[in-house]
Amino acid sequence: VITVTALALTIDATTIAVGRVDPDGQVHDARRVPTPATSVWDTCRRLLLDAAGADEVASVGICSAGPIDMAAGIVAPADIAEWGSGFDIVAATRELFPTATPGLAVEGVCLALAEQRYGQADGVMDALAITVSSHITGGMTVGGFVLVGHTGNAGNIGHTVVAGYDDRCACGGRGCLEAIASAPSSIRWARTQGWTGTSPDDLVEAARSGEPIAAAALQRAGTALGQAISSAAALLDLDLVIVGGSFAQSGGPLWRPLSQAVATHSRLSFLAGLRVVPTTLDASATLNGVALLTMAAPQPA
Ligand SMILES: [Zn+2]
Repeated sequence: VITVTALALTIDATTIAVGRVDPDGQVHDARRVPTPATSVWDTCRRLLLDAAGADEVASVGICSAGPIDMAAGIVAPADIAEWGSGFDIVAATRELFPTATPGLAVEGVCLALAEQRYGQADGVMDALAITVSSHITGGMTVGGFVLVGHTGNAGNIGHTVVAGYDDRCACGGRGCLEAIASAPSSIRWARTQGWTGTSPDDLVEAARSGEPIAAAALQRAGTALGQAISSAAALLDLDLVIVGGSFAQSGGPLWRPLSQAVATHSRLSFLAGLRVVPTTLDASATLNGVALLTMAAPQPA
């Protein structure tokens, strides 16, 4: 008897994770390894083969840090150097499991799927999920549907422009939210002001204990996040914004200015009920989100 299974895979700059997915979309036996500097696909391949065991793989849900080209099946995450000019991950997956149906989605879309199914966006028609860590990205639910966009990269709030800033962004633009409010951007700014630390945890700790430059760095990041959230909320008539990611765990020094900026800028009557909340999901959110893609795949006869 051949057992049929589905697999979920997530890849970002720091972690590769693989799990088995049951028919209800739940992930089991998840395994995580640090993303290596080279041979990234070899690591994915080994984890996928381990997870599959002797089973026939019917579908593989693939979540990658962006940007991606969803139609072409290509991923080009900014922080994975060897994939910088694009890696054909769907073709590689087909080669590994010829009978499987691959499904590819960008990180923010998987996050939105996870918030809709398992988080606070359950039953919410219009929501935005944001992750704030070394990068800032997001995913949107509009009218109950998670938007993917024509190349699969919709929801990329990290590269919306924040008024009043001209910081150079890794994308080549200027004044992007990510260039102001990500953890590395906040550290970079604090260091230009004379702070001497290097890690996000140290910056947050310093801000909490009242160190003025660290506090100002989180004030700056929180305010920019609140501005970008207000713009997105006005554009899409959002009901709920959910903020996660390691740098969003910074507590009051980040959240107070964030909430203040939302209160300052979200003044339209239809935004009176806008809620901006921390996520209740953990670091497995994108793996759980992409697992849902496997449920749509046809099962082999
Ligand atoms: Zn940018």
